[in-house]
Amino acid sequence: MSTGSIRVQTENIFPIIKKFLYSDQEIFLRELISNATDATLKLKTLLSVGEFKGELGETTIDITLDTKKKTLTISDKGIGMSAEDVEKYINQVAFSGAEEFVKKYEGKTNIIGHFGLGFYSAFMVADKVEIITKSYTDVPAVKWVCEGNTEYKLEEYKKKKERGTDIVLHLSDESSEFLEETRIQNLLDKYCKFMPIPIRFGKKKEWVKDEENKEKDKEIEVDNIINNPEPAWTKSPQDLKEEDYQKFYKELYPYQFEETLFHIHLNVDYPFNLTGILYFPKIKNKLELRKEKIQLYCNQVFVTDNVEGVVPEYLTLIHGVLDSPDIPLNVSRSYLQSDANVKKISSHISKKVADKLEEMYKTDAEDFKKKWDDIRVFIEYGMLTDEKFFERALKFMLLKDTTGNCLSFAEYKEKVKPLQTDKDKKIIFLYANHTEDQHSYIQIANEKGYNVLVMDTPLTAHLLERLERHDSEIHFTRVDADIIDKLIKKEEQIPCKLSEEEKEKIKPLFEAVLSKEKYSISIDSLSETDAPITITQPEFMRRMKEMSALGGGVGFYGALPEMFNVVVNANHPLASKILNEGNEEKKKKIAKQAADLALLSQGMLKGEELTRFVKRSFDLIK
Ligand code: ADP
Repeated sequence: MSTGSIRVQTENIFPIIKKFLYSDQEIFLRELISNATDATLKLKTLLSVGEFKGELGETTIDITLDTKKKTLTISDKGIGMSAEDVEKYINQVAFSGAEEFVKKYEGKTNIIGHFGLGFYSAFMVADKVEIITKSYTDVPAVKWVCEGNTEYKLEEYKKKKERGTDIVLHLSDESSEFLEETRIQNLLDKYCKFMPIPIRFGKKKEWVKDEENKEKDKEIEVDNIINNPEPAWTKSPQDLKEEDYQKFYKELYPYQFEETLFHIHLNVDYPFNLTGILYFPKIKNKLELRKEKIQLYCNQVFVTDNVEGVVPEYLTLIHGVLDSPDIPLNVSRSYLQSDANVKKISSHISKKVADKLEEMYKTDAEDFKKKWDDIRVFIEYGMLTDEKFFERALKFMLLKDTTGNCLSFAEYKEKVKPLQTDKDKKIIFLYANHTEDQHSYIQIANEKGYNVLVMDTPLTAHLLERLERHDSEIHFTRVDADIIDKLIKKEEQIPCKLSEEEKEKIKPLFEAVLSKEKYSISIDSLSETDAPITITQPEFMRRMKEMSALGGGVGFYGALPEMFNVVVNANHPLASKILNEGNEEKKKKIAKQAADLALLSQGMLKGEELTRFVKRSFDLIK
C-alpha cells in the first residue's frame, strides 16, 4: 500500500472542479463513460496489432446504481490500469503545466475535457471516488481511493479478478439526484446514445433480507443495452438504403413524425475529419419554432445540440448529426464559436448543402420543383445570410408563378416576357405576395400576357432587393404597384376620350370622396376594357415600409403614413357617365360608390365606411 499527494498543485483544482463546473455537473457521466469506451477501444486496437493475446470476450460497459450505498459505478472491460499506470495517468493528473493553467483559467469554466480533467469531473458529484482496476497485462489489481482532497490511497486489491476498471462514485448529499434511475437513464440517452461500445444500464443491486433477517444484496441483471454503437453515420453510404436513413432519423428524433425530404451523408477526411448525416425536414411557410436540432458529436460522444452561432443561422433549420474528432468536447458554446475548426466545418457544410441541392436540381428538375415549396424558405434564408451560398443557389433557386410553374432564375430571365421599359431599359418582372388579395391585378396582368411571380415568404422584400443587387438589369414590381400600361411607359399614348377640361372636372369629384392624406388621384387614359378605378401603391414606398416593419433600419419610411395612388380611367364609360350626370347629388353618389368598389376589391374598405357602403348599395337596388 502507498499513500501520497496528487502532484502538481492540485489544491487549486478541486475547488475549481466543484465550484465553477457546477452548472454542467451532469457531464461527469459522459466523461467517465467515454473514458471507459476509450479503454475498451484501446484494448481492441492492441488485440488487432497482436499486443494483447488474451480473450477479448464481451466488452459491454455496465452502469450500476446502488441506492442503499449511494453509489454509482461505471465498469468497463477495457485495458485497465496497473499501479504504475494509476500513478502516471491519475495521480500526476493528465496534463502538464497545471499551475499555470489554474492561474489562467481561475474564474472561468470549460476546463473539463479540454485539459484532460475528464476523470476528475467525478468530484463534482462524489465525496469519495474509488478506482478498482486490473490491467490487461498480468499484474495484480489495484484500488485507488480519494476523498476530494489532495490525499489518495493506492493499494493492491486481490478481489478483482477480471480485466478492466470500475469507477465507484460515492455520491454527495447534494448530488443525490443521480441516484434516481430516470435521471441516469435520461443522461445516458442524451450523451451516450451512439457511443461506440455497448452500454448496459439496469444491472442494479437490490437489498433483500435473508433467513436470519440479515440484509443481503442481490444483483439483478437485466439485459438493457441503452445505445446503438454503430449509428448510421459511421457506416458507408453504399451500405445504407433509404429506409436505413429514415430509421436512423427516427432513432435521432423519436418524437418527430414528419418524413424528411432528403438527406446528405457527409464523409470528409481532409482538411479535417467530419462525418454526419443531415436531413432536410419539410419547412413550412413561416420560420417555425425549431424543436429538432443538429446534434454535434465528437467520436460518437454527444457534445451539444445548441449549434446556434456555431453553424450559420439558416443551417440550424436542418436536422441531423455531425461528428468530428476536431470538435472540442468542450461544452461552452462561446468556445465552440471561436474554434477555427468549427468555422471550417460550418463553411464546408454550407458548400456540401449547395452541392447536394445543385445535384438534385440537375438530375431531376421535376422532382426538385415538387419539393420547392418545402425547401424554399431554407434556400431563400440561406441566400440572404450567406454570400457564398447566394452565388451557388442562383443555379437552383426557383421562381414560381401564379399558375404554379417553376423556373430557375436564369430561365426566367430568358423565357418570360418582361415589362420592358423604353426609358431606362430595365427589365421589370411582376410579383404577387398575396394571390387572393391581388387576384384582380394578377388577372389583368395575365390577360395582357404577363407572368406574375408568387413571392409570399416573409423574406420576400429582402430577397428581391438582393436579386436586383446581383443583376442590375432587372427590377421586381408588385403587381398592384401601378397600372401595367403605366409601368411599361409606352411612348405612344392611348388617345383620351375626355378633353383636358373634362378631366379637370372629374378629379375634384373623387377628391371629395377620398381622403387627401391617403390617396393621390390622377385621371389617365387607359384602355376602355381596363377597370374604371384602380388603387395602387408605388413599389419603393411599400418595400421601404415592409423593410422598416421587419426592423431593416429605414425607420423614416416606417413613420410615413400609408399612401396610395388612385387612377381613374378616362376612357371607361363610367367616367363619361359621371360627367354627363346632371343631378349633382347623384353625381357625388356615383363617384363615392365607384371609389368604394375599388377599395372593396382591395380589401381596403372597412368599419363604418363598409357599413355605409352596404346600406347605400341596398338603397340603390331596392
Ligand atoms: P483524458 O481521458 O482526457 O486523457 P482523464 O482525466 O479522463 O483524461 O483520464 C486520464 C487518463 O487516465 C486517461 O488518459 C487514461 O489513461 C486513464 N484512464 C481513465 N479512465 C480509465 C479507464 N476506465 N480505463 C483505463 N484507463 C483509464
